[in-house]
Amino acid sequence: MKRTLSIFLLIFSFAVNAQFSPQDKKLTEKFFPDFDLEINTPAFAKKKGFTTYDELMAFINEKVSAHPELISYTFIGESQKGKKIPLLSLSNGKSDKKKTKVWMQGGLHGNEPASTEGLLYLIDRLLEDPEQQLLFDDIALQIIPMANIDGYEKQDRYAANGLDLNRDQTKLNAPESVSLKQAFSDFGPDVALDFHEYRPFRRDFARMSEWGITAAYDVMFLYSGNLNIPQELRQFTEEEFVNPAKEKIKANGLSSYDYITSTDYHGETHFNLGAVNPRSSATSYALSNCISTLIEVRGVGIGRTSYKRRVFTTFTIAQSYLQSAQAKADQIKQVLERTENPSAQAIVVKSSRKVRSGKIAVIDIGRNELDSMEVIIRDALHSKATLKRERPSAYLILPGNEAAIAKLKTLGMSIQQLSNGQSMEVEAYTITEYNRKTHSYEGVYPQEVEAKLEIKMVSFPAGTYVISLKQRRSNLSTAVLEPEATSSFIYFEVIKTDLGEELPIYRYLKTKEIQGLK
Ligand SMILES: [Zn+2]
Repeated sequence: MKRTLSIFLLIFSFAVNAQFSPQDKKLTEKFFPDFDLEINTPAFAKKKGFTTYDELMAFINEKVSAHPELISYTFIGESQKGKKIPLLSLSNGKSDKKKTKVWMQGGLHGNEPASTEGLLYLIDRLLEDPEQQLLFDDIALQIIPMANIDGYEKQDRYAANGLDLNRDQTKLNAPESVSLKQAFSDFGPDVALDFHEYRPFRRDFARMSEWGITAAYDVMFLYSGNLNIPQELRQFTEEEFVNPAKEKIKANGLSSYDYITSTDYHGETHFNLGAVNPRSSATSYALSNCISTLIEVRGVGIGRTSYKRRVFTTFTIAQSYLQSAQAKADQIKQVLERTENPSAQAIVVKSSRKVRSGKIAVIDIGRNELDSMEVIIRDALHSKATLKRERPSAYLILPGNEAAIAKLKTLGMSIQQLSNGQSMEVEAYTITEYNRKTHSYEGVYPQEVEAKLEIKMVSFPAGTYVISLKQRRSNLSTAVLEPEATSSFIYFEVIKTDLGEELPIYRYLKTKEIQGLK
């Protein structure tokens, strides 16, 4: 009896340990030894836990009173539990007009603490190191260090109402998403970084090899493969921002890879590489015509293990992007000007990933050795269009769809309205396939549709909304308004429809500008 109990306790304590500290010391020491480094941010002023909201605000206020000429802040809104979300602006006295605008955010997922702490370390270094301050001659920097405050306070991924804020970038159903996106649109950055951490011990990893495997990369880079982001912008992002940051990571003895994550594909484990879906920030920001990357540091679920190493990794990438932004300022302006209005390009409504085999580095936990594993990769960076459409010169949306209009405005779209009723030849969508999912996803019941297009004369009432595609974020408008697109307003039930119905969204294809707008 005693023996059974002690075995039970042994197993129980092992299970508890595995949950709270799944990473063996041997593994940490061999592959991820912590850095010996002085970091003057709130979490490192204490032995355990992470930066609280109050500590964050105290840190910010201290920096503002020490450097009022370099840093200021405003609140962009409130978390669901009523905590005000700070947005920091870092710049010097010189006019911001010609500067490259850089946006950085952390803590969108509340259990990825190195994202927030890395940005606080960046702020500390930018303000306390006189050499770093030279960056502000060329760069205007805005930082949201803790985007999901309620989640962060509990070290929980989700916002207080259970929504994943990085699946909410087009439907904007959480108040934090609206505040964040509005601040992003108002600033209109040229370069945007969203910092995260990833979970190195996954359920499906436990089944691979005898004792399971764990992820081997200190950090992964997620830059979008969405085909509506002009090729030139995708390439520029990779060559001038991602690659130099990878070099600096390597020079510091850290390892990196393009973002991969395991996924169940009809019972087999495959690896998704990259992303195309605008429900998440990397693609959403890139479709707003800016240089965008999401950073995943190895950290979720391992507490404060190698925490300085993780914070330093975050900081190193942030600093590298600032250096690239400064060094390439002229080129950035030119590229973004060219990619702003891709008028000749067809719209890719749907795409598929390239399926290929490839090798990834993993750590075999039992042997405590680095391994190379042959896997099936579903590669979003080499996507292929499966549904294309001619690019309209404008979308028209009937009055009565104000929820969609409000979201378009938050996404940064400039919208006009017809002063008087008028008839126009447009393309109308009729829903030919309709499948409303029976289980909810992120608080909605997605509508999967197929639509047929038909040219017809439609009599539009006064007040009809007109969204011209001659604007900076036009690619984002196609992502939410083409009904079959993967995170569209139809998919996310912002506009409800049914089989056989005509949508209240129309495509205006003529080059002659629509008259009578207000
Ligand atoms: Zn995350």
